[in-house]
Amino acid sequence: MDIHEYQAKQLLSKYGVSIPPGEVVYQTHEAENIVSWLNEEKIIVKAQVHAGGRGKAGGVKVCNNHQEVIKTVDKMIGMRIITPQTSEEGKIVTRVYLEKAYEIKKEFYFCITVDRETGGNTIISSKKGGVDIEEVAEKYPDEIFKMKISPGSDLLTHHARTIVYNLGLSGNAAKKAQKNILGIYKAFTSLDAAMIEVNPLAVVNDDDILVLDCKSSFDDNALYRQRQVAEMKDENEYDPLELEAARHDLNYVKLDGNIGLMVNGAGLSMATMDIIKHYGGEAANFMDVAGAATPERVAAAFKLIYRDSDVKGILINIFGGMMRCNDIAEGLVNASKEVGLDKPLVVRLEGTNVEMGMEILKNSGFPIKPVDTMEQAAKDVVTLVKEKK
Ligand code: ADP
Ligand code: MG
Repeated sequence: MDIHEYQAKQLLSKYGVSIPPGEVVYQTHEAENIVSWLNEEKIIVKAQVHAGGRGKAGGVKVCNNHQEVIKTVDKMIGMRIITPQTSEEGKIVTRVYLEKAYEIKKEFYFCITVDRETGGNTIISSKKGGVDIEEVAEKYPDEIFKMKISPGSDLLTHHARTIVYNLGLSGNAAKKAQKNILGIYKAFTSLDAAMIEVNPLAVVNDDDILVLDCKSSFDDNALYRQRQVAEMKDENEYDPLELEAARHDLNYVKLDGNIGLMVNGAGLSMATMDIIKHYGGEAANFMDVAGAATPERVAAAFKLIYRDSDVKGILINIFGGMMRCNDIAEGLVNASKEVGLDKPLVVRLEGTNVEMGMEILKNSGFPIKPVDTMEQAAKDVVTLVKEKK
């Protein structure tokens, strides 16, 4: 799960990390109070969307007086922002962050991620911050400094000192940077983060170090014990179908094709997508009805896929081990009644009571086609969808 810049900054400040004074605003009139409270000559207005590259896309603007702030807030709220990190449609800005604007002396890049290879964490830092880090990595690979922290080991002062040294800092600035780096790392591990990226980590005034931007994402499987993070979820940022899936604990990812899939088990889901492709079709989604495929979950998952207007046909591939196939079939028929099924539906069931399940589907009165093998199921759904066009 991702959170907004201002939320990440709130969390980081609890771990002793230095951030500028600022406040979030949802409506233009709220900005007036915030502007007086901030009482700063220069204020920066920042669109809060889950994407980087906002600066270049008109989503970050330094304002020189209070009237300019109000005007900018008014313009930015409701604006569509398109960056290399958003989809082509971009994102609508529903909230903006106002914070003190500084004269920046230096901009660094600093990021912590989980290292899938070692199971530890990797810290990436660079003197060339502020700009596109992908570009720096490509053009100046020597300017990127990586440090791996072993699983179970903490970030120690000497690690932080090495990073700061590599950033070319000394004296007071180095001390402050160290404190910030240790704080960000503490936040990362305490909050079950998957990634915290600070770009820029900036030197302002003579030797003050501040986090001026922060992108972060958190481990979904740990959200149950990270309520303060979980509550920061901004539902505007998600596809409505994906939100609905999350509510039912279904592993769902929207894709570009037109064949809706519902499968139990991630491995079987992948194999089903492959076989669809093999027969010339494209999946409209990945869907693993994780956990037990109970009739209720199967019905919820089915309705969700059905609601997707890109879906022209559906393939259900369920292995009923613990669950009985007749219960699953009944769940499907009930859900078909609810939606008034008129898209082709091919069902391959296997497992306990499979014959009973198939019988229920055959006699349902809906355009449901029960088949015995996965191969047949894939062939049939691809053909039915093509015929429908
Ligand atoms: P993004 O990375 O999405 O473009 P940033 O928050 O990094 O958004 O803002 C873009 C640039 O604006 C930063 O690289 C930095 O140079 C500048 N900036 C951001 N926050 C401030 C601030 N509080 N004061 C001065 N400049 C800032
Ligand atoms: Mg940035």
